[in-house]
Amino acid sequence: MSRVAIVGAGLAGLTVARHIGDSAQAVVFEKSRGPGGRMATRRAPPFAFDHGAQFFTANEPAFIAAVRSWQQAGVVKIWQPRFAELDRRTVVAERDWDAEHPHFVGTPGMNEIGRYLSSGLDVRLQTPVESVNPRGSGWQLIAADGADLGVFDWLIVTAPATQAAALLPESFAHHRALSDTQMQGCFALMLGFNQPRQLPWQAALVRNADISWVSVNSSKPDRPAPFTLVAHSTNAYADAQMDEPLESLQQHLCAELRDVTGIDAKHADFCQLHRWRYANIAAQSGSAALIDAERRLAACGDWCIRGRIESAFSSAMTLAEYLRTALQRTRPSSHD
Ligand SMILES: Cc1cc2nc3c(=O)[nH]c(=O)nc-3n(C[C@H](O)[C@H](O)[C@H](O)COP(=O)(O)OP(=O)(O)OC[C@H]3O[C@@H](n4cnc5c(N)ncnc54)[C@H](O)[C@@H]3O)c2cc1C
Repeated sequence: MSRVAIVGAGLAGLTVARHIGDSAQAVVFEKSRGPGGRMATRRAPPFAFDHGAQFFTANEPAFIAAVRSWQQAGVVKIWQPRFAELDRRTVVAERDWDAEHPHFVGTPGMNEIGRYLSSGLDVRLQTPVESVNPRGSGWQLIAADGADLGVFDWLIVTAPATQAAALLPESFAHHRALSDTQMQGCFALMLGFNQPRQLPWQAALVRNADISWVSVNSSKPDRPAPFTLVAHSTNAYADAQMDEPLESLQQHLCAELRDVTGIDAKHADFCQLHRWRYANIAAQSGSAALIDAERRLAACGDWCIRGRIESAFSSAMTLAEYLRTALQRTRPSSHD
């Protein structure tokens, strides 16, 4: 049976692994402590924060079906906050998000989806893949600590585009397209309060500020009770300030948050800032997945389509469908 190495246990990597099914032996390598990638949850008891993706929508039939199965498994629920559009402090529009146009979240945290999708798969956590060498007609993976992770017939990289470009050999047929793909950064500010706070909305898009989004994380279904807020910086602010010290960035974003919401971070019982170097990407017009059949290399992820959870799924499904057919056609090679 062919062996397939998948780098990254975010939604794209896990979706590829699940959908190539028994047509190959798939091993997923993930550098973090848990699966889920940017569908992430930071736990700091008694607080918990979805500091990456906030929610998702489902439009394509295949993704709608997948989300339905996640709902049935109890790892996804509909979030129905009061939603506001703000011009700094001023509410310019308001509405309730309802079940007719559902906004989904993982429960009890966004990272639960990754955990659920990992079950039954061979996922090697805390295993950063550092380099890749050609070996026979396959690929040998080397970990950051120098460990030999094995030789595989196919190598699939689902890391954000810049990291994928650094890992894949320059001989990869789509290396240029990959290197040219620019993702945008984001800072996530997390505030936890033992005493509840009052806000007239639970989710807000913000204009004319260095923060673009604020949510009452504790208003999502099945979250711990203490009041928690997540605020995201604009991508433009993050890209301009990416390597500045977190402390000064946190101060500035707390001041922006106070101005927009009236909530002062100095009353918070928990306050932390997370740096996402590769968070989002605008809509792309290229292929839904990058496949080099000759070298048996491929890359996929949200960045092929748009910085959305549904895009990560669609990109991965495009690749998985290709691989299922290719793997059934080809026999595994013999490696040196
Ligand atoms: C702040 C923020 C807010 C967002 N908000 C939303 C939202 O509200 N709605 C929405 O739909 N989407 C949102 N997104 C985007 C959404 O999170 C992504 O589209 C989606 O999670 C991408 O999944 P992926 O599998 O393509 O990539 P990722 O989730 O990034 O997975 C890639 C994985 O590869 C791993 N990895 C990287 N390099 C290596 C290596 N060398 N070795 C081993 N492992 C490696 C990483 O650790 C990661 O787990 C947001 C993202 C961020 C950061």
